Amino acid sequence: MASLGLDRVGVETLRGVGPQLAIKLKKLGLYSLQDLLFHLPLRYIDRTQITPIGGVQPQSEVVIEGEIRASDLVFGRRRSLVCRLQDNSGTTTLRFFHFSRAQQERLKAGALIRCFGEARRGKSGIEFYHPEYQHLDKDHPKSLDDALTPVYPATEGVTQTRIRDLCSQALKKLDNQSIDELLPPLPESGLSHQLSFSLVGALKLLHNPPPGTALNLLACGEHPAQQRLAAEELVAHNLSLLRLRQRIQQQQAPILSEDKIAKNSLLKQLGFNLTSAQNKVIAEISTDIKSAIPMLRLVQGDVGSGKTVVAAMAAVQAIANGSQVALMAPTEILAEQHRINFEKWFKPLGIRIAWLTGKIKSKAREAQLSAIANGSAKMIIGTHALFQETVVFNNLGLSIIDEQHRFGVHQRLALRQKGFDPTSTLSEHGSAPHQLIMTATPIPRTLAMSAYADLDCSVIDELPPGRKPVDTLVLSNIRRNDIIERVRASCIAGRQAYWVCTLIEESDVLEAQAAEVTANELKLLLPQLSVGLIHGRLKPKNKLEIMEAFKSGEINLLVATTVIEVGVDVPNASLMIIENSERLGLSQLHQLRGRIGRGSQASHCVLLYSPPISGNGNARLKIMRETTDGFKIAEKDLELRGPGEVLGTRQTGEMQLHIADLQRDSHMLADIKIIAGYVLINHPDNVDSLIHRWLGHSEKYAQA
Ligand code: ADP
Ligand code: MG
Repeated sequence: MASLGLDRVGVETLRGVGPQLAIKLKKLGLYSLQDLLFHLPLRYIDRTQITPIGGVQPQSEVVIEGEIRASDLVFGRRRSLVCRLQDNSGTTTLRFFHFSRAQQERLKAGALIRCFGEARRGKSGIEFYHPEYQHLDKDHPKSLDDALTPVYPATEGVTQTRIRDLCSQALKKLDNQSIDELLPPLPESGLSHQLSFSLVGALKLLHNPPPGTALNLLACGEHPAQQRLAAEELVAHNLSLLRLRQRIQQQQAPILSEDKIAKNSLLKQLGFNLTSAQNKVIAEISTDIKSAIPMLRLVQGDVGSGKTVVAAMAAVQAIANGSQVALMAPTEILAEQHRINFEKWFKPLGIRIAWLTGKIKSKAREAQLSAIANGSAKMIIGTHALFQETVVFNNLGLSIIDEQHRFGVHQRLALRQKGFDPTSTLSEHGSAPHQLIMTATPIPRTLAMSAYADLDCSVIDELPPGRKPVDTLVLSNIRRNDIIERVRASCIAGRQAYWVCTLIEESDVLEAQAAEVTANELKLLLPQLSVGLIHGRLKPKNKLEIMEAFKSGEINLLVATTVIEVGVDVPNASLMIIENSERLGLSQLHQLRGRIGRGSQASHCVLLYSPPISGNGNARLKIMRETTDGFKIAEKDLELRGPGEVLGTRQTGEMQLHIADLQRDSHMLADIKIIAGYVLINHPDNVDSLIHRWLGHSEKYAQA
């Protein structure tokens, strides 16, 4: 009988799986035996050996054996039974909160027991709360487990015992049924070592590690079997992005040829010369959009590097060819700011701008929508309201997403799914717009390779001339009064300042409250100044009014929440105070700090912290004091906080990796990219199977 690939054999075929359980398993994404085999243990419990009590480390899960030396009922906050257990290396405390009279009587001095549990550091040294235990009999020694016990990802309604049983049944099938080796033998690659481990061997080892398997390697994911699977998983993720890119690039985009006259008239409006980095990126975009293959390009440029102008130059090229251009910003404030800039630049060129945000309602909205639909508006600016169903473009040729990082890297893909995708809006016309994505969060190169595998990257690696680097101070809250004095002096001298209030919880309400309290305090202490307040809970109209008042200089000191993080541009503001700065990530601090240092005066940023400060917090603030280079900061952020935070994927829970870890495995990423490219070209039949194996039924990318 020809054997069926295990990806085609359903979980119902296993012993003990009825219709009810099958439904629960499917909810977990476990449909086939292959799915079970790739449902990998999170960690392992070692019950194969006894640890001497004297050598038990806190937080470890261990088996210990010894004699109870004392056993007491203790009536504290809770009644508990406390036993001292001793072996020839030391003693430890066992605490039980629930116990029967019979249990209590048997756990008496002199009893020999074996326990399993997690060691904690307690008042009297190492303690075990409610360990599992069994009584021992000197004459009949009990045997220990002969293999490590896997612990699987928590699964609602399916017990560990059950999932262990199902995985071990699936594992047995591996002996005579096949699972495809989807990674072909490769030409020379830096990963030959990782890939020398066979797939079947790796799966067997990880579900059922034999005694003697290096637990320390397993615990940190560095066992060769794990590395083998991690490499494959990363290739699968990479392929899912490449596949997405392929699908988009099979569509036709309008050919937008270069129009020197139009570009020159824009340049004349600017009042400054472009930096050579800006020119380089503008040329890269121009080359892309001259072609009928849809552009998929990411522009990375540090805060203040002048991305808006780059977008405007691309827009002018598109509009000169009769296309419409959509520019999407993550917040109303930022969208408004773009609108102001583009109006200034485009009005003289006779380009009409349409403006759409969620807050624009009824008549005004209708007017904007019809200008977009009939094509009289060529430049369309807004928030993601732009990509809702009611918006029908007339001839969209270029879509620009600004400050991508606010959306989170993988929300970019989700955006497409939710129908906010300019591509899907347009596909009915049989043509796809070119796409330009701009981000101010520099992503370390290796990470960018995997997170942005579907995009070409450009970097604006130069700031406009004349910028003075921001001088950064790190000060304890104790110095708050001195700082307030400094704000007064600076504002009286004609400068402006930001006072940023932050909270650890992502709560608009609490953050707004904190900012309000601070604003009231500062108003009292600085009666000579005009103090404004801006936070996410204000109506968009009020926010814009306040930003305008700050821009015009009417407000001296602006108390703000992190809503001002991106895009806001007020060159006269040269002082920024950030409260609780020790709680923020480096990239966020960098973004905030980028709001100052935009004018010609020297600027200062004060990072306030409340002592005591953790070692990690201290390290972060030190980096902020030492450098203003966004790329260096991003590398450090990656080191200190991990890729989830850096890529903004932690909250959204996207880009869930089962076994790979972008940070731990970053040394593989360059080769992963090569391998993925190789598989895509030479083994196209394996691509969908690999994506399916690793991204499974929740696969988001390939559908986009
Ligand atoms: P970001 O890259 O952070 O989006 P912006 O596009 O907002 O930066 O530009 C920041 C400021 O620098 C704006 O006031 C912009 O007009 C100005 N600017 C951009 N390019 C140049 C340049 N080449 N020379 C001088 N100023 C520039
Ligand atoms: Mg910007």
